[in-house]
Amino acid sequence: MPEMRRNPITGEWTIIATERAQRPHKPSLDATPFFGGKNHDPECFFCYENEHTTPPEVLVYREKPGAANTPGWSLRVVTNKFSALNLNEEFCMQDDNHLQVCCYARGLAEVVIESPHHTLNTALFPIQQIELLLKAYKERYIELSKEPSIKYIAMFKNNGSQAGASLEHPHSQIIATPIVPPVIQAEIEGAKQYYKENKSCIYCDMIDNELKDRSRIIYENEEFLSFAPYASRSPFETWLIPKFHSDSYHKLTAKQLKGLSEAWKTVLYKIYMGLDNPPYNYFIHTSPTRQDTEEFFHWHMELIPKMTIMAGFELGTGMFINIAIPEQSAEYLRGIR
Ligand SMILES: [Zn+2]
Ligand SMILES: [Zn+2]
Ligand SMILES: [Zn+2]
Repeated sequence: MPEMRRNPITGEWTIIATERAQRPHKPSLDATPFFGGKNHDPECFFCYENEHTTPPEVLVYREKPGAANTPGWSLRVVTNKFSALNLNEEFCMQDDNHLQVCCYARGLAEVVIESPHHTLNTALFPIQQIELLLKAYKERYIELSKEPSIKYIAMFKNNGSQAGASLEHPHSQIIATPIVPPVIQAEIEGAKQYYKENKSCIYCDMIDNELKDRSRIIYENEEFLSFAPYASRSPFETWLIPKFHSDSYHKLTAKQLKGLSEAWKTVLYKIYMGLDNPPYNYFIHTSPTRQDTEEFFHWHMELIPKMTIMAGFELGTGMFINIAIPEQSAEYLRGIR
């Protein structure tokens, strides 16, 4: 019998189509070479020697000391030239009969150039490079949140062209927006309501439940837990969450960043190896910059491999059909080393 499972935070429903479900199988790994080819492409904006083709860097970690915007860096963050949002435009909101609300796009968009290596998949980065990437998210969050009109900072990665990546060179994106996006607002409302009723954080309770149940755990270390959510919206949806309560990513200490890097590297590697480098999106869900969510919200990362296409049912209802059973997906990924 197909099951309908409810996300206890947002109230979203997913149909776990058990009848159509197939046990995950290990795809042939020969299809994807480890180091897909060249490490440098002279035509690429994000490669060494082409620093002048991007806007000037707003953050850089260097291997060797050197001038800004010159080779020798390990990671750079630059303003996104092709951004849909622009800080120079006036931001305002108009409300005509409550039927038409208009926000002029005012925000900030940045690209994190994750490594100098043109074709090295993020899952194969040395752990120190993953740590630089996760640290860059934190530093940019802190910096961008100083701008008073910014309400939320979305940090995410699209891996593979089917997941929306337009350039091959490993990169992720940061978009700071003048509104709190509905997905975040729904999580906050759900968590707030739960806190009111139960005097505890719904995410902390969820973690306790997963640690007791264990069937959906993918990986854990001392401070972080990765699991397949009970109401996973798509095959191999994977979450990573701190076991300690914290509402915002930018509060991570240096030691916690190390633990996170180890856990995130492991998760990315399992997805890469186990699913043959699938297209995916991952994002960090953290507290908005100007709301007090400390008691009831709990930051986390969500990774969704693109293995199905959103179709009429999803678009028309806001509900999802998942053709894989989360417990089986987790068991499969747990076994990938
Ligand atoms: Zn490149
Ligand atoms: Zn919590
Ligand atoms: Zn979330």
